Amino acid sequence: MKLDDITQAGGPALDELVPSRYALRVGDIEVLVISDGVLPISGKTIAYNADSADLAAWLDDQFLPPDVLEWPLNVIVVRSGGRTILVDAGLGLEFPDFPTAGRMALRLQAAGIDPASVTDVVLTHMHMDHIGGLLGDGLKARLSPDLQVHVASAEAEFWESPDFTHTAMPAGVPDALRSASSRFLDEYRGQLRPFEKEYEVAPGVLASRTGGHTPGHSVVRLASGGDRLTFAGDAVFQVAFEHPEWFNGFEHAPEEAARVRIHLLRELVSTGEALIATHLPFPSVCHVAHAGNAFRCVPAVWDY
Ligand SMILES: [Zn+2]
Repeated sequence: MKLDDITQAGGPALDELVPSRYALRVGDIEVLVISDGVLPISGKTIAYNADSADLAAWLDDQFLPPDVLEWPLNVIVVRSGGRTILVDAGLGLEFPDFPTAGRMALRLQAAGIDPASVTDVVLTHMHMDHIGGLLGDGLKARLSPDLQVHVASAEAEFWESPDFTHTAMPAGVPDALRSASSRFLDEYRGQLRPFEKEYEVAPGVLASRTGGHTPGHSVVRLASGGDRLTFAGDAVFQVAFEHPEWFNGFEHAPEEAARVRIHLLRELVSTGEALIATHLPFPSVCHVAHAGNAFRCVPAVWDY
């Protein structure tokens, strides 16, 4: 029996046995990491330009299965200067093929966060595992009508007519991404607050466009009282520390994505700031160090 079955049997899963939230502070800024669940992804998709023996060796070294792995999916809630900011929104409940993800609405509730109190959403990009939670009535109906949705203008423009020629996604995924992004633009167009390069959403909370993964992909940089943390979205994956040059099949401009990743990882080494990323194992908080020609992820101590 899985742990989920135990909690489901006792009623709604508001008190799941495994914690789905982790709180930390960056100076005066409050951060809550929330797990939306896990998504299956094929080993090939996380590194499709890697030599297959090298990839198999890496997966084996990480105690990961050789074919299909569980890909973590994290969102964060940030509070600063009286604003409550949701960064990305998980997968939502519209995709029945992924029953182990799409938990964000339930887990926000479990964390005591009223969706109506969310003042801003920042989207790192518009893939469905980052916007899906905002689609459908599950969460949307409970959000404030004054909600502002910040996304790079290059991202919103890209999804008007997306280009998949440089991706290596499983069959059917491009169509699902097209349809999720087009629904999202239809449903939220009036609330979109596009930014060009950077936008300070609240004191010390800066959305900053990197491009690469998608043309408008952005990271969120937090800075307060000498503390810093970067939410890297899909600029950094678990495999990226040892093999930053391996391409993820979801990257629309893979060579640029690798450049962005290496630049960001080098910067995080030099600043020593904390890193959280969408698809790093929950709660994902870590620091980055050099390791030979690549990097290593040093998990932060769970200090609760
Ligand atoms: Zn993603």
